[in-house]
Amino acid sequence: MSLSISCDVAIAGGGPGGATLAALLAKCGMSVAVFDRDEFPRDKLCGEFLSYDALPVLDLIGLGPALDEVGATRIRTCRLIGPTFNYSFELPREARGISRLRLDEMLLRRAAALGASVHEGWTVDTVTRTAAGFALHVRDGSREAHHVTAKLVVGAWGRWGRIDRQLERPFTRDTARRHFGFKRHYRVLPEGQVPADHTIDLYSFARGYLGVNAVEGDTVNICGLVHASRLDGHRGGWETFVDNLSGEGEHFARLFGAHEPAQEHFLSSEPVIFAARSPVVSGILMVGDAAGLIDPLAGNGMAMAIQSALVAATLVVRRPELDADAIASEYETAYRDLFLDRIRWSRRVAWILSRPWLVDRAARILRAPSIGSLLLARTRATDAQVAELVGSFERARDR
Ligand SMILES: Cc1cc2nc3c(=O)[nH]c(=O)nc-3n(C[C@H](O)[C@H](O)[C@H](O)COP(=O)(O)OP(=O)(O)OC[C@H]3O[C@@H](n4cnc5c(N)ncnc54)[C@H](O)[C@@H]3O)c2cc1C
Repeated sequence: MSLSISCDVAIAGGGPGGATLAALLAKCGMSVAVFDRDEFPRDKLCGEFLSYDALPVLDLIGLGPALDEVGATRIRTCRLIGPTFNYSFELPREARGISRLRLDEMLLRRAAALGASVHEGWTVDTVTRTAAGFALHVRDGSREAHHVTAKLVVGAWGRWGRIDRQLERPFTRDTARRHFGFKRHYRVLPEGQVPADHTIDLYSFARGYLGVNAVEGDTVNICGLVHASRLDGHRGGWETFVDNLSGEGEHFARLFGAHEPAQEHFLSSEPVIFAARSPVVSGILMVGDAAGLIDPLAGNGMAMAIQSALVAATLVVRRPELDADAIASEYETAYRDLFLDRIRWSRRVAWILSRPWLVDRAARILRAPSIGSLLLARTRATDAQVAELVGSFERARDR
């Protein structure tokens, strides 16, 4: 049966950005509906390193203790590993290793528990602006069509969605900055020693890199990103690519020799395109990857999704009349101030990391801890920024 759903805020996408926003708005008593084409739990291409600057926002929606309950690992050290180097530096705060299978489900269930209306297996097909707000056409898992009206729409559909094409966002036509990612869960073989569960390892190789860290359940996630040009002429799937990497240096041979796959296949997905994108399009606020892509190397994409949800929630709650244009204009400014510099820095650091000879030279000149501070400080929120974001939300909620 076709339904008509009406809400204050409709969120297209229930990943970390959409689910956090739904939870925050529901916590403030707003009528919010979130739609995700997938049913949860579901796996996701990701390094599964949850940066420390996301954790205070998860505390705000009561998810802090749940990370311990599921056994999210505690990550305190980062190692940069290449053919001729192995440098390590400490993180200023403890980060967490948690699979997307668990984290995304926890977030979405939390949003539902706080009062958000959660629709899993529902795909948003179109969003249009109307005199009263927005209209969405949505299809459920059995392809039944439903009509949704909302005063405000938030795009949280990740880095590449069908609506991006409909909105004619320029990045969908960019072919020069395309990268492809892959990931697989592994178990450490009895004789293997890498990585310790408190470490994230970043392996540098030409035109790409790998991130390796432990997540809950004695599992190690190995996740990589390569420039599309590195795949020119490549035959075979990711298995072959990884086999070839093992032949590129002792460090890769040691890594893959110490692990056995815990999942049948590699997971990959749509291209990762590092062209600039706008956080507001046709009055739709974008959060997370839909608003802007930080290079995965920085391990801050989920934190940015969660923080951009917090920024959006604060501005929405401050304007109970839900004036979409006023909120969009404030959000655009706040987004640029908080995130654009991070995105730029992540690309610079990734450019260096995908050139092993340059990492080695830079580390010899700068020394490893300086490279570490550069990587960390410029690509994530400071403690003061996070405290300010949390404080602003609490003040808006308590008004
Ligand atoms: C190779 C790689 C490694 C990474 N490693 C890390 C890392 O270690 N740490 C980190 O913090 N970040 C990492 N990232 C980035 C991180 O994965 C993203 O930044 C994060 O997932 C963004 O969250 P999001 O909620 O914006 O989008 P997503 O997590 O992509 O969620 C979007 C949701 O929208 C749904 N959706 C899409 N279209 C529709 C539609 N039309 N209707 C309904 N639902 C829809 C999808 O099903 C999905 O659930 C990595 C990214 C890549 C590519």
